[in-house]
Amino acid sequence: MTQAIPILMYHSLAIKKKGTVLRSIHVPPKRFCNHMKMLKILGYKALSMKQLAPYLRGEKQGKVVGLTFDDGYLNNLTHAAPLLQRLGFSSTLYVVSDLIGQHNVWDKHKSIDSNPLMNEQEIKQWLSYGQDIGAHTKNHVHLDKISEPDADIEISGCKQTLESMFQTEVSDFCYPYGHFNQHNIEQVKAAGYKTATTTIRGRANYNGVYSDLFTLPRVFIPYHTWPLRFYQKSFSAYEDRRVHKS
Ligand SMILES: [Zn+2]
Repeated sequence: MTQAIPILMYHSLAIKKKGTVLRSIHVPPKRFCNHMKMLKILGYKALSMKQLAPYLRGEKQGKVVGLTFDDGYLNNLTHAAPLLQRLGFSSTLYVVSDLIGQHNVWDKHKSIDSNPLMNEQEIKQWLSYGQDIGAHTKNHVHLDKISEPDADIEISGCKQTLESMFQTEVSDFCYPYGHFNQHNIEQVKAAGYKTATTTIRGRANYNGVYSDLFTLPRVFIPYHTWPLRFYQKSFSAYEDRRVHKS
């Protein structure tokens, strides 16, 4: 029987006041720490997408979850990297390659708080903590709304930049906004990526069926994820029931 594998999706780790626009994309650092400690206590190991891939393909079995951070926020380096290293966990940080060291400028018009992204040196530190990086396009674009050649540059160019800058294989992709079309999936495969995550809700390999590695569902962890809800989202069918709704 194929085991269901939650791929956790976090963005920023920060405390935000009530009423903050899109507060749900932040998680207070303490709460994140509690999530990770709960995994540890339950005997689970959090893995980067690179390390998780053999489990997704059914080549390995074990108590594992995928751990992903979208966008590359500097607060992930401060609040996640040392903790994850201490727990022996790894994770994938999806980096927007043309915006390294800048801010989440793609959110600006929506009056979402400006939030610094890691610079080159900080991403190197992130890697030195045993964490991994993946690609999130060059400019955080809506891939399904731009031309095919432009989408191709965003997808393959991001991989090239990150690999030459950090001298590491970048094998994992994440669609910005969770938006993509069939052609984008083919472009991601052709660029040489091994996995791609979406914002489709649910656990991977749910219901005994292997998930497509290029349209992987994830478990979104928003601001108010208390321990019980975290447990339900990760280890019950709580999220899977939502798979076909979003
Ligand atoms: Zn993003």
